[in-house]
Amino acid sequence: MVKVVFLGTSGSMPTPERGSSAVALVRGHEVILLDCGEGTQRQMVAAHIGFSRPTRILVSHLHGDHVLGIPGLLQSMTLQRREAPLEVYGPVGTAAFIQAFTSTLGGPGFPVTIYEIRKPGVIYDSVVYSMEVAEADHDVEAWSYALVEYPRPGRFHPDRARGLGVPEGVLWKRLQGGEDVELSGGVVRSSEVVDPPRPGRKVVYSGDTRPTEGLVRLAEGADILIHEATFGEELAERAEEDGHSTARQAAEDALKAGVRRLIITHISSRYQDVAQLESEARVVFPDTVAARDLMVVELPLRDS
Ligand SMILES: [Zn+2]
Ligand SMILES: [Zn+2]
Repeated sequence: MVKVVFLGTSGSMPTPERGSSAVALVRGHEVILLDCGEGTQRQMVAAHIGFSRPTRILVSHLHGDHVLGIPGLLQSMTLQRREAPLEVYGPVGTAAFIQAFTSTLGGPGFPVTIYEIRKPGVIYDSVVYSMEVAEADHDVEAWSYALVEYPRPGRFHPDRARGLGVPEGVLWKRLQGGEDVELSGGVVRSSEVVDPPRPGRKVVYSGDTRPTEGLVRLAEGADILIHEATFGEELAERAEEDGHSTARQAAEDALKAGVRRLIITHISSRYQDVAQLESEARVVFPDTVAARDLMVVELPLRDS
């Protein structure tokens, strides 16, 4: 199960209902934090996300509302005697920012590795998923992130293998791995006994951005696109000036990218009621909801 936990959903200024930007992707035991605005650690406590799990922090850009939670989070992790290493990814300047507060507050009690992103593409690759980035279009260097799981092998049908006279054991393994096997009676193809691969899941986070083609490509076919929608249509000019998107523009990106669901976040404090933003987006992309703090979206494995 992948869980998407919205920790902070405000744009720029926090409100009583909305904290500064942060989203946690919880995948098994592992936590991937997409931005870490002020108050993120408190929201992690409220959402029962521990401080000692394998954790990666992905910083979209160096604006305070996206990074000021990192000092507090690192301090609490130290107080809780975290030993596991922590990885932080972000734009150029991320290392200087972290060094600035650790040099005065004291370093964390565990290793922190910082990777500054220089170009679009894959930034992390494990056996089961990769993390990819595309350049966002904000008023400072900014990145959008995608979690992309690899396809899983298709379902194996032991009854069919038996029926075709393949003895259980090493030959089954080879068929499961996609290989065809030769028996005295002829060749048994893997595709006869194994279903086609099942798609992995994909979650994409825009960070602060105007609409961009790079983000649309990154989000292609995503299960969930988390897109900022700071403003409504009446402030489209302001969004363009400040390097943000309207709810409608977020929906247009979702439609172009052919995603399954759109969740809008980074909502300006002027919108106490998000119904306007949701309805402007739904005209273009019906499967849209506005995030709220501590909202959890579960993403089960896909079978097709
Ligand atoms: Zn912001
Ligand atoms: Zn910003």
